[in-house]
Amino acid sequence: MDFNLPEEVQILRDTVRKFVDKELIPLEREYRHDSEGPMPDHLLKPLQEKTKAMGLWMLDVPEEYGGAGLGLLPRCVIHEEIARAASLPFRSLELFGPEVRPVLFYCSDEQKERFLKPVLRGEMKFCFAQTEPDAGSDPANMRTRAVRDGDEFVINGTKRFITAAGRADYVQLMAVTDPEKKARGGISCFAVDLKSPGVNLERQWPAMMGEAPWQLYFENVRVPANNVIGQIGGGFSIAQKWIGEGRIRGHGARPVGIASRALDMMIEYSKVRTTFGKPLSERQAIQFMIADSAMEIHSVRNMVYECAWRVDRGEDVRDLSYMVKVMATEMASRVVDRSIQVHGGLGLMKELPLEWWYRQIRSTRITEGANEVLRWRLGQNLIRAHKS
Ligand SMILES: Cc1cc2nc3c(=O)[nH]c(=O)nc-3n(C[C@H](O)[C@H](O)[C@H](O)COP(=O)(O)OP(=O)(O)OC[C@H]3O[C@@H](n4cnc5c(N)ncnc54)[C@H](O)[C@@H]3O)c2cc1C
Repeated sequence: MDFNLPEEVQILRDTVRKFVDKELIPLEREYRHDSEGPMPDHLLKPLQEKTKAMGLWMLDVPEEYGGAGLGLLPRCVIHEEIARAASLPFRSLELFGPEVRPVLFYCSDEQKERFLKPVLRGEMKFCFAQTEPDAGSDPANMRTRAVRDGDEFVINGTKRFITAAGRADYVQLMAVTDPEKKARGGISCFAVDLKSPGVNLERQWPAMMGEAPWQLYFENVRVPANNVIGQIGGGFSIAQKWIGEGRIRGHGARPVGIASRALDMMIEYSKVRTTFGKPLSERQAIQFMIADSAMEIHSVRNMVYECAWRVDRGEDVRDLSYMVKVMATEMASRVVDRSIQVHGGLGLMKELPLEWWYRQIRSTRITEGANEVLRWRLGQNLIRAHKS
């Protein structure tokens, strides 16, 4: 057993860390992404040129499509590092190239020409719509219905909280094609042109994190049958696979990066801030907050790396991914909270990135599976697997 990261991943981590320290952390003072929409081009494009020059381009896209084809472990390490900076958008990150929804790799050859390749070239954008007003944690209960009519499907229903729908060309839409089977072969994935008649971008939902996901209403929207991605009825399982990976990278590795920078800031500030004649770093109450944070970060980082390593070996990590997501998001919530506390009033100010992380990290306990739901699923799986 070797607890060190593979040498090539260590080199990658050091390279990304230097890039973050030199390019992204200084940018925080001038720019904090706190709004709907992407990072402005005048900031994003020069950063993209740099990541491209470092070979950090389309990280998860297979090499046959011109991507870096990296496994999950190196990608987790990269995302942990970049999460140390608060200058980048929390969602819809385009630092490493166009956002390519992995579902598009399930396209047929003909669909790859129409969808995947334009997305890879940055000419077309997709958003992802699964959640509905009455089906969030329980997407298998969705009501959006797609009914076959000759060479087309007719779609009716409402999707809520859809990130970046306002700037997407297509939506990767999950809809029920067989109400009897539902999640077990009755939900399909459609590529729907957002300019189709009957697609309504009803409203936005401005959120405490700065972003504003959309509500979409589909009224008799006709979609060609050859826009079904993957098998008819196979949409639910491919979407869940992709969401599962997001739990490990976006909601596992990223909170570790946020917490480690919040801890660095906590330590640095405690050394320079004097109260009652002594630096804060000499107070046991503060030392305990530092020690607790370091212990929690260390244990969760190991969980994230192990889980990603197992994914790269092709293992089933469902339960481990639930543990990672719950532990990482709750750990980072506590560490950022402690860091704010140590900084006193300054910790609440927008000058520092702490309040921004506090708001962002709060959202991660709800998105990609609410923590209660993951605990519940984990408990069920453990009880089912237990042999007396
Ligand atoms: C900023 C943002 C962006 C999003 N982007 C997208 C997107 O692009 N596409 C998309 O499809 N969706 C998106 N979502 C939706 C997101 O996935 C859902 O909000 C999430 O799945 C939770 O669903 P819900 O909000 O309906 O909460 P509900 O399902 O109503 O759950 C409410 C609360 O009830 C509790 N709970 C639920 N079930 C159980 C249970 N079985 N046991 C115990 N407690 C339970 C949990 O505490 C949960 O937080 C986004 C959401 C946000 C906030």
